Amino acid sequence: MKTVLVFLEQREGVIKQASIDTWNHVQELVALRPGVAVSGILAGPARTLQLEGLLAGTGVIFHANEEAFRLYNPRRYARLVAETMRREGATSLFFADTALSRDLAPRLSVRLQASLLSGTPFDKGKVDDSGCARLVYSGAAIASFASERALNIFIATSRQTSFTTTFGAQISVVVLEPSMVTDDDLFPMVSSITMHKGMRDVAEATIIVAGGRGMGSSGGFCLLEELALLLGGAVGASRPVVDEGWRPHAEQIGQTGKTVAPVLYLACAISGAPQHLAAIGSAGTVVAINRDPHAPIFDVADYGIVGDVHLVLPKLIEELQDFLQKR
Ligand SMILES: Cc1cc2nc3c(=O)[nH]c(=O)nc-3n(C[C@H](O)[C@H](O)[C@H](O)COP(=O)(O)OP(=O)(O)OC[C@H]3O[C@@H](n4cnc5c(N)ncnc54)[C@H](O)[C@@H]3O)c2cc1C
Repeated sequence: MKTVLVFLEQREGVIKQASIDTWNHVQELVALRPGVAVSGILAGPARTLQLEGLLAGTGVIFHANEEAFRLYNPRRYARLVAETMRREGATSLFFADTALSRDLAPRLSVRLQASLLSGTPFDKGKVDDSGCARLVYSGAAIASFASERALNIFIATSRQTSFTTTFGAQISVVVLEPSMVTDDDLFPMVSSITMHKGMRDVAEATIIVAGGRGMGSSGGFCLLEELALLLGGAVGASRPVVDEGWRPHAEQIGQTGKTVAPVLYLACAISGAPQHLAAIGSAGTVVAINRDPHAPIFDVADYGIVGDVHLVLPKLIEELQDFLQKR
């Protein structure tokens, strides 16, 4: 049986939502292919391994439950994943597209002599071990990427939040034997910085409430924070907002910011410049609020509200609070 491996990334002992989404999408892909098994690899202690209701499908998770893997260490992680790939005879390896995987996946590509496709949009159903399609040049063109046929192993990092709702999971966890961690492990990550505690990273959020220059000031973002909190989402920003210093660069979405793939993207007072749209191509539903009916954002929006954000947003928040209270 062919084995596909999914890397489950944890931070502070919690498996990242982006990794859960990747696992679930890989399950959807392999469901169409008999004779393919999905396994997971989890490095570092996890606070809880209650995977029921999180992970879909069937599979085994290999867990390196050691302190040495708590923080990302490139060599250690690469060795662990490469060894697991070899031991399980896996031919494909999937990652969520995160800062960690952007470092680890190329290392493994070299180490395993594997073909690497990064930032693949899973949702189009086009990614498999033969290739994928992706928007390039700020969304002006679609490029097709094919994996190198001569190489037997295929690695992909994907951007996609999950729409999976069916869980009939049969997941078992196998704790790996303690590894021989050696002192030659260079480049350890000594600490991690958590920005805006409590708020999700835009790159991983399923709901993003993003604001543009039309929000007027940093104070204008209080409305967006309130809305994001009600929806359980993250606040995002366009570049001028970050340039003005209203929001941190970590929240910038676009060509020179982060690429996102939420289920819902709410664009508030954002005009819809190509450099911004380039990063939201994988969003599920786009809702735009803009006082200019001709703003380009409406060309890509599924729902549009023509109006002033300072009037529309308070009303939206009020209605949402009412709705949530009645539930
Ligand atoms: C190399 C390069 C890289 C770039 N990278 C990025 C990037 O990563 N991310 C990014 O976002 N941009 C990027 N840009 C900038 C990009 O070209 C646009 O300038 C930018 O996206 C515009 O941001 P905005 O929509 O917030 O502002 P604007 O274009 O000024 O639009 C503001 C919008 O708000 C609306 N508005 C104003 N007031 C209100 C109100 N009260 N209620 C409702 N609507 C209102 C206006 O009608 C307008 O549509 C880049 C540009 C270059 C050249």
